[in-house]
Amino acid sequence: MIPIEDIRKNYEKFDDATILKIISGAKDLRKDVVDLLNDEIRKRGLDTELIEFVTIETDFYEGSERQHLVDEIKSSVCTCCGNNSELHGYTFNTIISYLVWYNHDQNLQIICSDCAKSLRLKSMLTTLALGWWSRPGILATPATLISDLIEIMQKEKYSERVISHFIDENTGSIRRMEKAKSSLTTILKSFNQKKVESAE
Ligand SMILES: [Zn+2]
Repeated sequence: MIPIEDIRKNYEKFDDATILKIISGAKDLRKDVVDLLNDEIRKRGLDTELIEFVTIETDFYEGSERQHLVDEIKSSVCTCCGNNSELHGYTFNTIISYLVWYNHDQNLQIICSDCAKSLRLKSMLTTLALGWWSRPGILATPATLISDLIEIMQKEKYSERVISHFIDENTGSIRRMEKAKSSLTTILKSFNQKKVESAE
């Protein structure tokens, strides 16, 4: 862990643009660094709304408040079909490879089980048909199909993981949504539309 005094010295040297960049990623900072960042905002005379932003971004959901939010997410409308059945978190992997070209898409979704079934079938069939055609694909295709089967068997455990990731990644947006008394659906929709990673 980098000593806080070293971080302080670095922050003092950064220009305002760099400080703004750090502010935008505040949710990933440890608690003492958040305090230091707020000191730096004050010292530089930057807009105090930035402190408010940092406070909201790092006001994580814990305990019963988190459980309440999980329940609210599960009972939201499915952004895929518009139905009101219970939502779960899913990870879909699709591998397409050919000779030296290899692409692994990982896609996290919080949707209803009917929509998940068709997406799962689509991603597994695509991987089964198109995953094998390169050296890394030969190894990754069966491993990925097996991990998909494990996820299907341990649905609840994997669902909790995806929903937890959603909450931690969107703390600030969800807090602002609560303040504005608007619905979670917009945040769920942009989460479901986002491609998480393209692994090599
Ligand atoms: Zn659905």
